[in-house]
Amino acid sequence: MEGVIRKQLLYRTGVEYGDYALNHVLGCAHGCKYPCYAFLMNRRFRNISYDDWIKPKLVDNTIELLEKELPKLRGKAKYINMCFATDPFMYNQPEVIKLSCDVIALINSFGIPVRTLTKGVYTLVVAKVSNHPENSFGVTLVSLSEEFRRKYEPNAAPVSERIKSLFAMHKCGIRTWVSIEPYPTPDIIAQDIDELLESVSFVDRIVFGRWNYGKLNYPDPDRFYREMAFKVLEFGKKEGIEVVIKKEVRISG
Ligand code: SF4
Repeated sequence: MEGVIRKQLLYRTGVEYGDYALNHVLGCAHGCKYPCYAFLMNRRFRNISYDDWIKPKLVDNTIELLEKELPKLRGKAKYINMCFATDPFMYNQPEVIKLSCDVIALINSFGIPVRTLTKGVYTLVVAKVSNHPENSFGVTLVSLSEEFRRKYEPNAAPVSERIKSLFAMHKCGIRTWVSIEPYPTPDIIAQDIDELLESVSFVDRIVFGRWNYGKLNYPDPDRFYREMAFKVLEFGKKEGIEVVIKKEVRISG
């Protein structure tokens, strides 16, 4: 796998509930077609094509940079997000997964927890490397439909594999979460959000957000998202799960 060199890795993020984050890979093999915001930014500012984007490149000096930057965050960072502009557990990308495990081990050794999010899967190796009680491992899950996954998340893990691996992390006593974002309107896919919620009823936290790309063709999307947010909140209350409704959904209410 090709590599790139960066000058800095950790940054304070402006993303809602973000704290600190890092991106130790450039590009993402999953190639989401929602489209992917990180890809759009890289296309605009670095002239990266879709074909280049789906050939990820490791940041070769990741560990060296973290060893310099992490001491400054000790006692300051609540947690570090992995990642907002790539996927740390890209499906079938062992080199990315290996580097992500090394990164987690290093961050945890400074007493800082991580919050990860993937459309790939977690393995036993990830569970073994996790060494902070507040680490939280998440998957993105916006539909249980494989047809939807093939169309919008072409190279990501099948949804059933994502859920299975997240459940295994939960069974290892590790905190888990699910990102239901970007949740599609019924004209994109007709589905029952209750089924989706039931499939991840074991998680500790749910984040819900709307489809944010272009103009929606669905009539009164704000109302639709208010109804969905209400269902997610009710589900969280019933199951004792923390729920975060993203700002865009709340404002539109
Ligand atoms: S998994 Fe995330 S970073 Fe990767 S292509 Fe999809 S949206 Fe972009």
